[in-house]
Amino acid sequence: MANNWNIPSWLEKEVRERDKVCVYCGCEFTSPKVSTKSSASWEHIINDAKIITRENISLCCRGCNASKGQKKLSEWLKTKYCLERNITPDTVAPIIKLAIRNGEQSMIEKESKKQKAYQVVAHNSGGCAPSA
Ligand SMILES: [Zn+2]
Repeated sequence: MANNWNIPSWLEKEVRERDKVCVYCGCEFTSPKVSTKSSASWEHIINDAKIITRENISLCCRGCNASKGQKKLSEWLKTKYCLERNITPDTVAPIIKLAIRNGEQSMIEKESKKQKAYQVVAHNSGGCAPSA
């Protein structure tokens, strides 16, 4: 799983430890050799690559990521893909529930203000390599 999103290693490590299964459908991640669809991929909960925070970066399976695409979370949850798989605001991971509860727009505003604080943390955590 390549990290092409400029996600700092401290955050990558944190998210990998938190999101052991798909944050949307809950499937266990597999090696892409076993199944591409259930292999892990980086997900921006809010589709904004500039929001690189622990609240916006998560891991979901490629199947969910491809289906969600550029849709807003609230819109995607109403699609056939989610209905067929029983993916609802109640079944998703806590980090996704938080995003739904906070409202997507207000989260964008809040997180962009927090960015500076997170960068300070990044400097303090040193350059430890992701454990994957
Ligand atoms: Zn999934």
